[in-house]
Amino acid sequence: MPIIKCPGCDKRISDEVELCPTCGYRFVKRSKSRKIIINIVLMMLICISAFIAVVAFTLGNTVIGSAASVVMIICLIKFFVK
Ligand SMILES: [Zn+2]
Repeated sequence: MPIIKCPGCDKRISDEVELCPTCGYRFVKRSKSRKIIINIVLMMLICISAFIAVVAFTLGNTVIGSAASVVMIICLIKFFVK
């Protein structure tokens, strides 16, 4: 249970609480679900670009295949490097 500093009154409180017991400062807890959404979007982009790259190379379209590969690599880097 990490202890954080309340931005409203500078008292040290648990980060599990939604409201500061001293000053009533409301904490917005969105970082966790936002991270999950970003990961899902990145995974989808990786899958879509990988699929496009495979189809494009199979059909002999190296320009679209290379572009999709670049998009896939960028998404992979963003997915693993935080
Ligand atoms: Zn407070």
